[in-house]
Amino acid sequence: MKPAPFSYLRPTTLEEALSALAADPDAKVLAGGQSLVPLLSMRLAHPSALVDINGLDELAYVRSDEDGVRIGALARHADVESDDSAWRVQPLLRQALGLVAHPTIRNRGTTVGSLVHADAAAEMPAVATLLGARLLVASSEGRRTIDAEDLFIGPLESTLRHDELALELQVPALPARSGTAIDEVARRHGDYALCGVASVVSVGDSGAIESVRAAYLSVSLTPLVVDLSEAFADGTASDANLAAAGEIATGAVDPETDIHASADYRRHLAGILTRRVVARAHASVRTEEVR
Ligand SMILES: Cc1cc2nc3c(=O)[nH]c(=O)nc-3n(C[C@H](O)[C@H](O)[C@H](O)COP(=O)(O)OP(=O)(O)OC[C@H]3O[C@@H](n4cnc5c(N)ncnc54)[C@H](O)[C@@H]3O)c2cc1C
Repeated sequence: MKPAPFSYLRPTTLEEALSALAADPDAKVLAGGQSLVPLLSMRLAHPSALVDINGLDELAYVRSDEDGVRIGALARHADVESDDSAWRVQPLLRQALGLVAHPTIRNRGTTVGSLVHADAAAEMPAVATLLGARLLVASSEGRRTIDAEDLFIGPLESTLRHDELALELQVPALPARSGTAIDEVARRHGDYALCGVASVVSVGDSGAIESVRAAYLSVSLTPLVVDLSEAFADGTASDANLAAAGEIATGAVDPETDIHASADYRRHLAGILTRRVVARAHASVRTEEVR
């Protein structure tokens, strides 16, 4: 199928892009096109205009400091994944991006675009919510930041207004004495996951576990974050505690049956992956803040 007709704008300044979005409520931003173009081709989206932001070179950056990682709207998944500073400051970014589609798609698709696309089956919305990331957005009326936990309100639906352009994803640094991991089950390598789990584990000075949180993809309508700390009351990652965490996860997720997997199977995966991922995150706890 061919896309429905649309006009095409390629602004060279941010102001031009924001004016174009303000002028037309049915216009859409085109970033990497890895989600939008298939939707156009299937006529599941029919914007009146595409505002192509690929000429705004100033948005193509990945910057890291002791506070965290800032990812510009034109940073491709591959740019973030290969950035060693970003990896040192927040290792879950590289860990998660390695599971996003295939290298060719990561070379074009943007991490910020993935957030705005708001797919509960995608890795980065879940990871951003788990890490307490924020999205800096701009319109011709000004700028604001949206906490990732307030961004996702339904399948492919975010709280971004039609006239807003997402400029930057701000991801906090991993605190000292913390570790991260992510894993998922997909039918084929690079497919969207049937279920995925990312986790952050933090320990105290003595090495006892203090906090365990996990984010789930493909098992709810929006990214789901669950606090599993109560399963680790004695501070250890024992098999019994990991099993208890898996039980909490199984009860918390709310998957649906579709052509790829039944709800029961996805729920089962949430429990198994929770045990596996939390154990891995705990094993990777770093005792020093690494910059
Ligand atoms: C075969 C295939 C497999 C894939 N598998 C996975 C996967 O396993 N996991 C995964 O997470 N993703 C997967 N993707 C999607 C990929 O990660 C996309 O790159 C990403 O979802 C969207 O980024 P984009 O830059 O391509 O956005 P686009 O496709 O350009 O845009 C997506 C949406 O976001 C809006 N948008 C984009 N950027 C902005 C902005 N700066 N401000 C405001 N609105 C904006 C657009 O208007 C559009 O509505 C896959 C894609 C394909 C084609």
